Amino acid sequence: FAKDYLQVKRGPYKTLDEQDVRFFRTLLEENSLIEDRCDLEKYNVDFLKHLRGCSPLVLRPRTVEQMSKILSYCNNNLLAVCPQGGNTGVCGGATPVFDEIIVSTEWLNSVIHLDETSGVLVCEAGCVLENLHNYLNDYDLMMPIDLGAKGSCQIGGNTSTNAGGIRLYRYGNLHGNILGLEAVKADGEIIDCMNTLKKDNTGFHLKHIFIGSEGCLGIVTKVAIQCHPKPKSIQLAFLGAQNFTKALKAFKTAKQELGEIISAVEVMDHETIKFMWEHTDTTSPIGDYPIYLIIETSGSNEEHDQDKLNKYFQKCMDKHFVLNGVVTSSPSKSEQIWGLRERVAENFYKDGYVFAYDISLPLENYYDIVTEMKEYLGEKSHRVFGFGHLGDGNLHIQISVQKFSTDIMNYIEQHLYKRVNELNGSISAEHGIGFLKKQYLPLVKSEANMNLMRSLKRVMDPNGILNPYKVV
Ligand code: FAD
Repeated sequence: FAKDYLQVKRGPYKTLDEQDVRFFRTLLEENSLIEDRCDLEKYNVDFLKHLRGCSPLVLRPRTVEQMSKILSYCNNNLLAVCPQGGNTGVCGGATPVFDEIIVSTEWLNSVIHLDETSGVLVCEAGCVLENLHNYLNDYDLMMPIDLGAKGSCQIGGNTSTNAGGIRLYRYGNLHGNILGLEAVKADGEIIDCMNTLKKDNTGFHLKHIFIGSEGCLGIVTKVAIQCHPKPKSIQLAFLGAQNFTKALKAFKTAKQELGEIISAVEVMDHETIKFMWEHTDTTSPIGDYPIYLIIETSGSNEEHDQDKLNKYFQKCMDKHFVLNGVVTSSPSKSEQIWGLRERVAENFYKDGYVFAYDISLPLENYYDIVTEMKEYLGEKSHRVFGFGHLGDGNLHIQISVQKFSTDIMNYIEQHLYKRVNELNGSISAEHGIGFLKKQYLPLVKSEANMNLMRSLKRVMDPNGILNPYKVV
């Protein structure tokens, strides 16, 4: 149970009773409520199956008005709420800690409007990211965000975590791409910031309060998002380097030689590939190297892009920045290569217990932390491996051990987060703080920053009903 991890005590919230359930039944259609123990299971357990809450009720509103009435009732009756999208978050934000009511956006899942000229899509928060990709495909457009969990995560969850993913390097983060949103405050008030304009400097930029606030300040119900033209040509290079320093040189060369057509720059170490071939049917298409790079380009002229990427590859080979590689424009080969990178997280559970961290570091220290953690942990860990969004300075460092214990967790985290802080990094690059990283937030935020966050929380949610025990 999540509460046992950090010895958290239940807050002074009301325990759900039959009268509350009766109210929700009058408000929602019958199948919008989930009370059956077996059916509740998938909402009470997180994606990595590391955490379990014990919520007795899931509510699935179909309209913003229903959402508003749910929150207003919960606020008036001091019932704690855990907002949930696709439940793919990896730091415990979407899992109830005790018996919070889970308010799921899964049935707020309609596309409302697409402006084909501006590329602005307006949709409800529960739309699954992959469904939006597929929808836009017919209009030769694409979402500005892509990540391994796309088949389950929802755009509302993406917005609330300010999710990054593999194309952030090219299209920027969601603070830039979300043009407008609608959200419901803890007291049920609907905040309509549904702008579809690129430019609007009228007053405070309220939408940003909700982007990345992990369900602690309100529930996002609708977004307007800037989508981009689907590229006519996509090329991929999978490169093997002798060490990280050489890989960094190859990355710098990519910026110089490929410039405007780069759409993703990812890195994986040898241990990651070994993990993948031990646990899945995938393997490196170029043999064994200490470090691998994935460089993707997206553009509008296949011949031009292919020529550029081939010349870049040759230059890296000539300068010995890389030792081997493959360049492809074949969708099936590209899919295989992306599979190596994107399917790592879904296979974690096969390697004992995996502690998964998501940090940002200055590029010169980016990979040192993996080597350092290996030395620090010695026999205590089964495997330490690193992969991530190199283009954004974002490393996923994974540590597998035979069995979970709070002792080993504390031993890892106290050292890792101290080092990340000393190196001017971030303890959470893209996954958020949620429940699992809350105790480390004061390590990286000043007292003044923490106080401002607490004040904001008090203004938006004075009774503290939204995602208690999380973030702040
Ligand atoms: P959930 O997990 O349901 O919720 C996440 C948080 O947001 C919780 O705090 C929840 O309370 C809150 N929340 C959810 N919906 C709403 C809403 N409508 N309003 C208010 N609060 C809400 N993340 C990245 O950034 N980049 C990656 O590359 C990436 N890759 C991943 C790959 C895999 C295989 C997996 C399992 C996860 C990955 N993640 C990644 C993490 C996760 O997918 C993202 O954080 C995603 O944005 C979460 O969306 P979700 O709908 O699943 O939200």
